[in-house]
Amino acid sequence: MKALVLGEPGEISLNDVAEPVPADGEVLIAVDAAGVCGTDRHIVAGDLGVPPGTVPGHEIAGTILEITQGVEGWNPGDRVAAFGQVTCGTCHACLAGRSNRCRRPEILGMARQGGFAERIALPTSSLIALPDEVPDGVGAIASDAIATPFHALTTVGRLQVGETVVIIGAGGLGVHAVQLARLCGAARVVAVDPSREARDAAMTAGADEVFDPEAEEEPARALRRVARGATLVLECVGRSETVELGLAALSPGGRLVVVGVGSSRPKLPPLGMFIGAELSVHGSFGSTPSEIQTVLGLISTGRLDVSRSVQREVPLAGAAKIFSEPFGPARTVIIPEEHPS
Ligand SMILES: [Zn+2]
Ligand SMILES: [Zn+2]
Repeated sequence: MKALVLGEPGEISLNDVAEPVPADGEVLIAVDAAGVCGTDRHIVAGDLGVPPGTVPGHEIAGTILEITQGVEGWNPGDRVAAFGQVTCGTCHACLAGRSNRCRRPEILGMARQGGFAERIALPTSSLIALPDEVPDGVGAIASDAIATPFHALTTVGRLQVGETVVIIGAGGLGVHAVQLARLCGAARVVAVDPSREARDAAMTAGADEVFDPEAEEEPARALRRVARGATLVLECVGRSETVELGLAALSPGGRLVVVGVGSSRPKLPPLGMFIGAELSVHGSFGSTPSEIQTVLGLISTGRLDVSRSVQREVPLAGAAKIFSEPFGPARTVIIPEEHPS
C-alpha cells in the first residue's frame, strides 16, 4: 500500500510499504481521512526523535475492512475514529479511566505506524464509533484538535457555568476551546493571539473579545483589564511568556490549564500573591476515548458546529510537500485516494 514515510530529519515521501496485518483482537481499517497537526511537523523536522521508516499521523477516521479473532461488537463497514495512542489497559491510569496518561503508550505515528497511509491495523480499545452525521475529516481531527481542549476545559479545568474564560493561542486547539467554553456555559470568552487571522477565527467561533498581546506595551496589565474576573485560563501555546501572561490574567481562585507543549520553564508569581490568591496551575494532556465519544456526540447533534474546522483536504499522493510549506492556522486533512465506500 501507499504511505507517507519519514526519511532523514526534514524528509517525508510517498512510498510503497507492507500491508499492515492485524493481530488477534485488532481490526484492519481503510483510512478515510488523517489530520495533520503541529506535532506531525515537529516529527517530520526530526525534533521528536521519531525514527526513519515511521509513518506519521495520529488523527484518524476510517472504515473497518476486516476483523480478527476475538473482536466483538465491530464489523466490516463500521466507520470509526481512532484514539491517538494504543494503551496498555492495565496500568494505574488506564484502570482509572485516564488512558491519556497510560504509562506504556504506543503513540500512533511515533511508536507505532500511523495514519498517513491507505490502511492501518488497530486494537478495538483504540476505536470510537463515528456517527453517520460526522464527516471523515471532522472525525479525524476530533480526537485531538477538539477533544484535547474539551478535556482541558472540563476534566482538568472544571469549567463552571458563568465563568469568564481566557483562551491564549487561537490556533487549531484554541478556536475549538472558544466554542467549547461557550457550549459549557462560560459567561464570557476572551481569545488572545498576535495573529489577526487567528483573532478573526476566534471571533467567528464566538469569542466575546479578542486581545492582541503584541499591540500592548504592558500586555499582562492590559489583558487583566480586558479579562476582568477571569477564573479559568487555557494556555495553548507552550511558551514561558504565554504561561506567565495567563497567570497574570487570573483573578483570585483562578486556574491556569496549560495544554501547549514546549521545553520552556515559566515562572510562578511571587509566592505571597500565588498563595494568597489561591491560584493553581495544571498540565493537561490529550483526552480519553470517552471524551472523544462525547465531542463526537456534540458534533453529530449539531450542538458543536465544526463546519469551518477543516479548511483543506489533500490527496495522500500530493501530501508530502505540505510539510515544507508555511504552517498557518488552517487545518489540513489527508485523504487517501482509494476509498472502499
Ligand atoms: Zn495532534
Ligand atoms: Zn496503560
